[in-house]
Formats: sequence, C-alpha cells, structure tokens
Amino acid sequence: MVPLPRALSPVVHDVRHQRGAPITTLRIGLGEDTHRLAPGGPLRLGGIDIPHDQHLLGHSDADVLLHAVTDALLGAACLPDIGQLFPNTDPANKDRDSAEMLRSACDRVESAGWKIVNLDCVVLAQEPRLGPYKESLRTRLAEILSLGVGQVNVKGKTGEGVGPIGEKQIIQARCVVLLEKRA
Ligand SMILES: [Zn+2]
Repeated sequence: MVPLPRALSPVVHDVRHQRGAPITTLRIGLGEDTHRLAPGGPLRLGGIDIPHDQHLLGHSDADVLLHAVTDALLGAACLPDIGQLFPNTDPANKDRDSAEMLRSACDRVESAGWKIVNLDCVVLAQEPRLGPYKESLRTRLAEILSLGVGQVNVKGKTGEGVGPIGEKQIIQARCVVLLEKRA
C-alpha cells in the first residue's frame, strides 16, 4: 500500500475511527430553481429590480436566484426545503418577498449552529445580460445574509440561443454554499 502524505493521515484516521460521527465541521449545499418568463418588466432577480421587458412567473415574487440560494442553505444544514417551509399552496406566500423567505431560512440555519463561509451562484438567462448588475446582486445578497461582499459571488450565463433558456422561456439559477459549524 502506498503511504499517504503526512498531511492526509489525520483525516483518514478520523474516517476510520469515528464511524457515524461527523468528520468535518464543514457542510456543502446545492440549490437550483427555474421560473417561466412572461411579458412585462421589471425583472425581479436576486432581491433587486432589473430593467427588462419580461418578468418571472410564480406564486411568490418568483425570484429564481434567491430561491436557489435559500435551498442551498437549507440543504447544507439538512433542513426542510423551500417548498416545505414556504408552500405555494399557502396564501401567505402569495407575492411574498423572497428576501424575507431567504432571511428566515438563514435564521434557521444559524439557529441550527451553522455559519456561512461563502456562496457561489450561476444565473442562466439569455436576456438581460447580467454583467452590469453583478456587483449590485452580490451587494444585495450579502446584505440579506449579513455577509461581506467577498463571501458572495454571482455569475451570469446565456443559453447560447438554444433550449428554453436560450429561447427566453425560462431563467434558471444554481447556488452552492459552504457552511461551517460554529465553535
Ligand atoms: Zn422558485
């Protein structure tokens, strides 16, 4: 058997001898969301209103980016997902501000003993181009989550003109988040 580099040995030791126990104080979470586009702006995305001739359809304010972030956070902490916490059958969630739902999810994650290390997001939209709004989106997300802007990243990608994203029928968002157990 090839000897392990010295730096890896303690990790392997933990895996072998703490069966069933957490071997790390870090947790990763993944969130993904899709909403249909409809005529008429502005576009509510990432907690800001972006000038555009289409908006997203949904029971709440349909903020696809905030929904992906919410599910990434909840998933990393093994908490119920956004659909379970804020069902679209509940009239209380009609036209609800997704920033409020995200803050509420963040509070649950923090109450469970976790703090956010960082998050990285991708928004897949043919239009509008998100480059000019990237810093505003990062700032708003950091504000909602009480983080530094350096802990939050947002990237925009087009659908290359094909499929439901490229044909401007939908916008999708994905987010990965890293949590660390509070000391
Ligand atoms: Zn959604």
